[in-house]
Amino acid sequence: MKEKYNYMRRRRQEINKENLHEFYSLEEETGCWLWNRARNQRGYGLKKFKEKITAAPRIVYELVNGPFARHLVICHKCDNPPCINPGHLFAGTQKENCQDAVAKGRTAHNTGPNSGTAKLTRRNVLEIRSMWAAGYSVISLAKRYDVAVSTIWSIFKGKTWRHVQLNEQIASSVSE
Ligand SMILES: [Zn+2]
Repeated sequence: MKEKYNYMRRRRQEINKENLHEFYSLEEETGCWLWNRARNQRGYGLKKFKEKITAAPRIVYELVNGPFARHLVICHKCDNPPCINPGHLFAGTQKENCQDAVAKGRTAHNTGPNSGTAKLTRRNVLEIRSMWAAGYSVISLAKRYDVAVSTIWSIFKGKTWRHVQLNEQIASSVSE
């Protein structure tokens, strides 16, 4: 009974700058803030905001930067839909521009201490996991993908890339 009450309260909880931290889990290697509530099929968080179901990155962008023009698209520098880290979000005028900007920004994004992880794509992660299962060593995988051995380990330990789900793995093996 009590659990149910808490659940209902959690669902109805409004989001604001002060309680924002309750709505995500930090992914340490990438610095992404992964939305921990309802998501749509593409992985974007969804939440009622100002009486309307709104994509989580739009909510957070507004909370941090103030209201913005409705036609603007909120893009991810990290290319990770569930992420709501304000430092990873920027406003673009249309989706194409979003992707161009992300592509141009990639080099800059890769110079940080997390470059090893930032360099890998979801596809790489899936490949690494299956190669590891097939018997490749961690060191050989690190060399092959030009990342630190610790980066490969983090993938296996589930510290990073947890959002690359098993169903994605199945989907990608089917499409091959
Ligand atoms: Zn991010």
